[in-house]
Amino acid sequence: MLCNIIRMTVTVLSTGSVRIRPQHVETDGSPFAWWLLTSRRWTAPRPINVYVIEHPEGLVLFDTGQDRASLTDPEYFPRGLVRFLYGRLASFDLGPTDTLTAQLASIGHDIADVRTVILSHLHQDHIGGLPELGHAEIVVSATEWAQVSAPLPELNGVLADHVTLPGLRWTPVTTDPVVDPTIAPFTSAHDVRGDGSLVLLPTPGHTPGSLSLFVRMPGLRPLLLVGDLTYDVDLLWAGRIPGVGSRRGLRDSTRMVAQLRAHYPDLVVLAAHDPAAGALLDGARS
Ligand SMILES: [Zn+2]
Repeated sequence: MLCNIIRMTVTVLSTGSVRIRPQHVETDGSPFAWWLLTSRRWTAPRPINVYVIEHPEGLVLFDTGQDRASLTDPEYFPRGLVRFLYGRLASFDLGPTDTLTAQLASIGHDIADVRTVILSHLHQDHIGGLPELGHAEIVVSATEWAQVSAPLPELNGVLADHVTLPGLRWTPVTTDPVVDPTIAPFTSAHDVRGDGSLVLLPTPGHTPGSLSLFVRMPGLRPLLLVGDLTYDVDLLWAGRIPGVGSRRGLRDSTRMVAQLRAHYPDLVVLAAHDPAAGALLDGARS
């Protein structure tokens, strides 16, 4: 049942900006390791989005941005090869007011009021706010959570020391088979609040456990928050995929999202680093 009585809102904030490689945004067919080591160009700065959902049962975040300590703490990244590779992958610009706490305050929220945090996946630019969220429940896919204890997680983009912080309250979740024509073609889901307003859908590809959040609420077009499934929604709709992750998984998940839109022609897809996301969200309200 959809919550249709109490008003909910969605806003977006960004914890600084990031430049990535053009081949990261859209694959040119070359292997990841090749362009990571040889690319000479950066994109224009892109946002590091955190979606803020005011739900009747409490404030929900989708992703938490990049930790400013990644610039200010010389030991944030492991030394040696890992630090070199992360430096090749992304270039961050994070100012003093780009912390999650400060950004939430700028839109009128106290971080202490965050009740639930949903992570699309565990890459560093999505988990950066965790040190500020010891009071919240942290929801992540069980598949993604398993990455933390796999060998050499840092080579899969997971800095385990910054994920498994003392005191955090983790809830690994699975998406379970459901018979629900309103989320077709998806056949498994996890209903976060049990009211149909916030439903997690499996969209593996960027990482094996990547989740998207389907948001349905009164007064707003349906939203799909997709994390890093795409970096540019126009590319997504064109069926063109990024250069990071499993190509097969990215293609399959991209096709599933396109099919979901067949049921919801007004669906708005919001990615973590799409420069158009803020304007798309504004348009979802009109
Ligand atoms: Zn990522």
